[in-house]
Amino acid sequence: MLTLETINDFYDRQFRDWPGLREHYDALLKTQRRIIHIGDMNIGLQFNPGRIKSTASNVDSSSLARRPCFLCKANRPTQQQPLPLIDGWDCLINPYPIFPVHLTIVSKAHEPQEETPLDMVAAADQAPCLAFFYNGARAGASAPDHLHFQATVKEEFPIIPIVERYHPANKSGLISSTEFPIDLPINFWSIVILPDPDGMQLLSILPKLYGFDSKTGSPDPGMVNVLVWMDSERKLRIVVFPRKRHRPEMYFAKDERQRIVSPGAVDMAGLLILPRQEDFERLTAEEVMSIYDECGLTAEELNDYLPLCR
Ligand SMILES: [Zn+2]
Repeated sequence: MLTLETINDFYDRQFRDWPGLREHYDALLKTQRRIIHIGDMNIGLQFNPGRIKSTASNVDSSSLARRPCFLCKANRPTQQQPLPLIDGWDCLINPYPIFPVHLTIVSKAHEPQEETPLDMVAAADQAPCLAFFYNGARAGASAPDHLHFQATVKEEFPIIPIVERYHPANKSGLISSTEFPIDLPINFWSIVILPDPDGMQLLSILPKLYGFDSKTGSPDPGMVNVLVWMDSERKLRIVVFPRKRHRPEMYFAKDERQRIVSPGAVDMAGLLILPRQEDFERLTAEEVMSIYDECGLTAEELNDYLPLCR
């Protein structure tokens, strides 16, 4: 079992052995946060200049082919050591953090982000203090050519207490967030899995739950963000955000309407990461809603789309 104490000790060892790492985490103290209320949800905004590389990264295949893969062991800093978690994966400290605990769980093999890895469930079972999150290849992954997911403490995600409150732990199965009796700017599927045959069956369809390409309408396994965690009753929880676009229109604007925001799982779960101060200061509730409507699914799309996945 991985506890917060073990993780803190791991951070202490890596801070000691890996010069420069601590500065990246100290810089988090200088990031600013503010809240925008939308419907019944508080959306967090984080101004984090350290994330510009990731937010603005080129993830087209020719850009990927030109750079050495930074997740392959051969190209990682020698000081970056793994924390034992699950077989086949290296659990590493993310050197460009969003959170004070920010781990990247990297496949030992150089293989693409093709579908949601079910090993996230084993990881959540091993580390009930953490929430694990996955960015599909066209939904915020900055290294879609090397399979990985990430983790932070559960308290960081505004969506988690909402899901735990409105999807009772004893109601196993999949429900749409549009069934929650509250007004949310983000639409998703919430799943509670019990350790029984029905639960295992439901788990097996997880890699088949994803969105579609907004241009062609075709289902696209890269269009998804997923959160996996174990709740306080040790029920397995999964939230799936099907996606239809990688980045919103405002990302590409050539004038003052431009906002550099490139949503991944963290953003879809209610914390928008903004690497530019002007975007952090100016972003409005209307803009937040268009980010979620353009990149995620609208309530109608979510409810129409589920039968296709099943
Ligand atoms: Zn690689």
